[in-house]
Amino acid sequence: NVRVRFAPSPTGPLHIGGVRTALFNYLFAKKHNGTFILRIEDTDQNRYVEGAEQYIIDALNWCGMPADESPVNSGTYGPYRQSERRDLYKQYADTLIASGNAYYAFDTSETLDFHRKDHEAKGKTFIYNWHNRLKLSNSLSLSANEVQTKLDAGEDYVIRFKSPQDETLHLTDIIRGDIKIDTNILDDKVLFKSDGMPTYHLANIVDDHLMEISHVIRGEEWLPSLALHYQLYNAFGWETPEFAHLPLILKPTGKGKLSKRDGDKLGFPVFPLEWTDPKTGDVSRGYKEDGYFPEAMVNFLAFLGWNPGTEQEIFNMDGLITAFNLTKVNKSGARFDPDKTKWFNHHYMQEQDNDVLAETFKNQHSELAEIDINYISMVIGLVKERATFVSDFWDLSHFFFTAPTSYDEKASKKAFKEGTKDILNQVVSIINNIDDFSVETLQTIIKGWITSKDIGFGKVMMPLRLALVGTLQGPDVFDIMFMIGKNETVKRVDRVIN
Ligand code: GLU
Repeated sequence: NVRVRFAPSPTGPLHIGGVRTALFNYLFAKKHNGTFILRIEDTDQNRYVEGAEQYIIDALNWCGMPADESPVNSGTYGPYRQSERRDLYKQYADTLIASGNAYYAFDTSETLDFHRKDHEAKGKTFIYNWHNRLKLSNSLSLSANEVQTKLDAGEDYVIRFKSPQDETLHLTDIIRGDIKIDTNILDDKVLFKSDGMPTYHLANIVDDHLMEISHVIRGEEWLPSLALHYQLYNAFGWETPEFAHLPLILKPTGKGKLSKRDGDKLGFPVFPLEWTDPKTGDVSRGYKEDGYFPEAMVNFLAFLGWNPGTEQEIFNMDGLITAFNLTKVNKSGARFDPDKTKWFNHHYMQEQDNDVLAETFKNQHSELAEIDINYISMVIGLVKERATFVSDFWDLSHFFFTAPTSYDEKASKKAFKEGTKDILNQVVSIINNIDDFSVETLQTIIKGWITSKDIGFGKVMMPLRLALVGTLQGPDVFDIMFMIGKNETVKRVDRVIN
């Protein structure tokens, strides 16, 4: 019974790394007919950011991977916000104290700072562990009475995990294989604080257990916590879920981790949706608002660390669910390539419904307010082959809606030669005589005329295109003539001859 969770902290917008983690969890769940859970890890109230939880939910929905159980879609394992589970955690910390796996510590931050600096000065790193813990103020170095007196006096405390001395831990990761850890490098991590709040580690393990999580799929930055998490499961006597730590996402240069700040610096979004910082009002770009289709986003995210082992690159969500396999996820960092995201978007552009695209396009251009939506939809059918974003449409198609007001200089020199005027005059009279103004008829008659007169296609089609479009670009000239109609075609050609 596969149950996986995406467990973000609502400290701001999800960056694409977070969305990739959510996606891999989603794919794994769906592949195994399992359950995909969204759990909000908001125990650190200092880092809580207004609107972040809603953003996370909106982003998952936009990508087409809604959670089966979440704060807004409750299952039987709720609540799904850790702040609403806060009363639950203390008893688990107490259990660990009772079993000798955890202890109270009363050190002030000044004391800890002193030790850190003192070690630093000697070129060492201070670790709160078996070696040092007896020199510090905690229930392993104080008498039971002293401890009780401090607790009764309401002194600030933390509960720390008691990490063992001289042991070797054997950890397993689906992607990374077996990992051996010497416990002497571990510190006694804080599990619980006297403000009544558990830390990430305790809350995360307790909730994964209570929510019956079978597989923990998360970013590589959590790999250093794995040793502690294993020990916590053991200390509680709980079965350990399977773990998979996803590779880092690297900057386009391949050097260093892609960060939330890179987007603005490097000119591409790093967030799925636009985000307005509630404190500063600063707006960060989002893939959605930049004109990406969710299918493209999902497809390019899937390839950040995973590939099917074949040449195939285009996968919709169902295809990904079928092909996805955690054992095919790479260990090494995945380089983020903004050009590739555009390549995917261009692909998915071709699959979009023209009527839907037409609505979006129409809403973006006041020039289109009076234009029939079916006409816009047909125009899109003619130009989308060359479009990556809806925002490309206007440049590719404005001549379907308005006559050119200027003509490209270079193109004019190329297209207008001696005799061009005469040729266009003849074209106009031919056009005027065509009653059935269809693409086929236009093509047959005009091409037939060119061939019979032996003029050369370029000499006719180039100036004709220039007259209709203003440049030598655009789709097939006969398509353009048909779309704008006989009167408009004649009008535009007349304008360049007179
Ligand atoms: N709350 C952690 C985060 O923000 C969860 C890490 C995990 O999945 O264990 O990513």
